[in-house]
Amino acid sequence: MLRYHYLLAALLLCLFAVSAQAQTGVVINSPKVNLTDFRIGYYVDDSRNLDYAQARQQPYSETSNNASLGTNARVAWYRVELDNQSGEELALNVHLPHAYHVKSVQFYTERDGKLVSQEDLDLERVDDSNLMFRGAAVYPLLLPADTTTTLYVRSFVYSHQWFALQIYDQDHSRRALVGVANDIALLVGMMLALVFYNLLLYFATSKIENIYYSCYLVSGLVWIALSYGLVASLFDVYGQDVFMLNISLITMPIFLMLFMMAIFETRKHYPLEHRALQAVLLPLCGMLVWGFFDISAALKPASSMALLMMIVTISVSISLLRKGNPLAGYFLIGHSLFVLFNTLAVTFYKGLIEPNYIASHGVGIGIMLEALMLAFIISHRIKILEGIRASQDELKQQASTDPLTRLHNRRYFAAAADYLLEQCQQQGEPVTALVADIDHFKQVNDTWGHGVGDKVLVTIAQRLKDCCRSRDLIARFGGEEFVVLLPNADPHQAMQCAERMRHAVESVRIGAGTNQPLQLTISLGVTAITPGDSLQDALNRADKALYQAKHSGRNQVCLYQPAASNSDAASQIHG
Ligand code: GH3
Ligand code: MG
Ligand code: MG
Repeated sequence: MLRYHYLLAALLLCLFAVSAQAQTGVVINSPKVNLTDFRIGYYVDDSRNLDYAQARQQPYSETSNNASLGTNARVAWYRVELDNQSGEELALNVHLPHAYHVKSVQFYTERDGKLVSQEDLDLERVDDSNLMFRGAAVYPLLLPADTTTTLYVRSFVYSHQWFALQIYDQDHSRRALVGVANDIALLVGMMLALVFYNLLLYFATSKIENIYYSCYLVSGLVWIALSYGLVASLFDVYGQDVFMLNISLITMPIFLMLFMMAIFETRKHYPLEHRALQAVLLPLCGMLVWGFFDISAALKPASSMALLMMIVTISVSISLLRKGNPLAGYFLIGHSLFVLFNTLAVTFYKGLIEPNYIASHGVGIGIMLEALMLAFIISHRIKILEGIRASQDELKQQASTDPLTRLHNRRYFAAAADYLLEQCQQQGEPVTALVADIDHFKQVNDTWGHGVGDKVLVTIAQRLKDCCRSRDLIARFGGEEFVVLLPNADPHQAMQCAERMRHAVESVRIGAGTNQPLQLTISLGVTAITPGDSLQDALNRADKALYQAKHSGRNQVCLYQPAASNSDAASQIHG
């Protein structure tokens, strides 16, 4: 067993020795140069002040041309040997695609142990050199035929040493620059679409969570666009000018927590969780204010705060899930994805894992996945709110409907009639009111019982309704009495309508489990409603006309006649 340990140790030692002395050279044997995957040497300069002559003497370790050396390697030197065996002189371009987030870069070309050219790129003074192009540093490199040239690059970063180096001929160089940050542009575009969609949702629902979510998205997309070079490649701006945009790193968790408070209504339903969120939110808000004055200083505690925030938000969502909140599960999934991909990204930035696309885009992917999950939560919540609104509508409907006949009840009629009368008055339309009462209905109840009486009421109500136009307002006014308002109908037309009703009821045979079907009649009173007339006055007049119809033998329609005396104040149509 022990022997295996020795063997393993020896093997590791060998590997270390090989990597420490690794020859990080590339042989070029064709004028078509497209070098995107090769090994380079690196040396971390902890003193930060070695010059080229000193740096070239240092021991270089081997790594990939796509490297992350973490946050402790503020200054790193890279070296690659290029052996031109193509038989002709080559004019190549060295690309540093992540140059937008460094402080400064220096390039040194060495041939036969001598420095042949040197370029300095200070991101604070990009205009002093012409190496910066849409976020990438592009350094021209001339390789004479059958020679070996060594390239040294010194990279000084603000925070993490995220480095990539590619070597292209002119044609490939052009193509690589055209494709810069296309994937990030797509991500940012998707998030922008979500922002617009949410603003529209806000105008439709007036729910504040849509605003918080939009602000979270904007913070996320600003940070993605900034840290993945889209801002640089679109606007060609670098250094301290755009460093301020890192404030989005503080606003993002703030808006996420405000979103949580709004969507879960923590203030109302979960006071303990509400306080926990507030406890993180308040210091973050303090840091936001601080950030406006000194962003670099504020970012340091903010990143620790972000870690605390993740612990609190995950704990709160677990707690809400255990308390049975239907949205907490989805939130937890989205937020866990966010934490997972961010952790992956952090391990990459710290240089703990080999670079790969997912890890180097971890923060962006995490934000995007969480954003999509939050969008889903919003739509789910709209569904829940719609359900509540539908049951409220149902209650309203029930409160305004007569349960037996399904016609509107008296209360609804009173409210709707006022509106209808006002509408008609504005448009100068004539309106009439009509009152109908079943003749000798008490006898039906007395003879056949209330059940049959109810069935008669339902059948007659339906007949009356069938005679109405869609704009007419019909209601059961109480007992076996019905009222109808007829907009855009003069008394003559109303009398015709009443007559149709009378006839419709008279002609219906109601099977009620009796020996023979029942045949009933109704009497009706009609009156015109003049502008300035009150509804109550109109209904009183219609009642008088109805009384007249009853008095004259029932099964007939009477129109109220204002000029005549009370006793014979109506003209009649006999059935
Ligand atoms: P008239 O021709 O003069 O109108 O005679 P009527 O018998 O119809 O007159 P009255 O208004 O005295 O009778 C109304 C009856 O309607 C009294 C009541 O028992 C009955 N009624 C009121 N509401 C309901 C109901 O919801 N269901 C049933 N089955 N009967 C009802
Ligand atoms: Mg009656
Ligand atoms: Mg009655």
